[in-house]
Amino acid sequence: MTMQTLSAQPMQTSVPRRLQGRNALVTGSTSGIGFGIAAALAAEGANIVLNGFGDPAEVEATRAGLANTNAVEVAYSDADLSRPEAVRGMMAFAADRVGPVDILVNNAGIQFVSPVEDFPEDKWDAILAINLSSAFHAIKAALPGMRDRGYGRIINVASAHGLVASPFKAAYVSAKHGVIGLTKTVALEAAVSGVTCNAICPGYVWTPLVEKQIEDQARVRGITREQVISDVLLAAQPNKRFATVEQMGAMAVFLCTEGGDCITGVAMQVDGGWTAH
Ligand code: NAD
Repeated sequence: MTMQTLSAQPMQTSVPRRLQGRNALVTGSTSGIGFGIAAALAAEGANIVLNGFGDPAEVEATRAGLANTNAVEVAYSDADLSRPEAVRGMMAFAADRVGPVDILVNNAGIQFVSPVEDFPEDKWDAILAINLSSAFHAIKAALPGMRDRGYGRIINVASAHGLVASPFKAAYVSAKHGVIGLTKTVALEAAVSGVTCNAICPGYVWTPLVEKQIEDQARVRGITREQVISDVLLAAQPNKRFATVEQMGAMAVFLCTEGGDCITGVAMQVDGGWTAH
């Protein structure tokens, strides 16, 4: 065959998917960052277990869409992560429906804002349970199998508020700092077993929730959308841009692939320079 006929052959463009055959569970993935991470992992061939709240018909459409687009298995657990037994049930469900969990993304989280002296005790308990304790219970259930198989990726979605504080967010900041402590501890305990444990620390990320905040703040303060974005929401974010859920997904994929093999115990800032202050 001559060089000319060789170059006339069609190019092979299909790239092997880097997470083909892996099983990933992403908590709080019916919307926002969790869905962005689930979509990025599915695009690389991972089977997915979604979790979170939402309208059943919409959740089913999301589940089916993710499965069909990416030709992977996608299951859905409606576990309420404020309850430890529900977290354990979700882990068993995942193993049953898609297989042993290779990639665990602890992403579900809630927020409540109040001065500490008025902070409602039930809100404190709920934030600690969902944002911190659920990650502990899920890791406890997933780690033994990951160790046995010699591969595991645990990714905890913390926050810039895992590294620095803001007023009126006592429970959220405490929980997110706790998530980073948990991340480092698990990383050390799992270090020789092929299992890594890292935190992603977003600053402000563009999600439907943020979009709604912009409209509300602009109305209440009587300022423009642009002023809300720059002077209110992104006041502490030096690059003055929101991160995207796709960027969170790309970071998660990187941590799950070979390039991430030696990265463990890290709090990875994706915050446009917020924590460089
Ligand atoms: P979101 O509100 O869009 O999504 C939260 C998800 O968690 C949803 O799927 C929701 O159903 C689920 N959830 C809430 N309570 C739950 C419970 N009890 N049991 C099971 N699922 C539950 O929020 P988001 O902005 O995508 O945030 C996701 C994570 O990223 C959170 O941990 C949040 O603290 C963190 N984070 C977000 C930002 C941001 O700017 N959006 C910045 C830093 C950190």
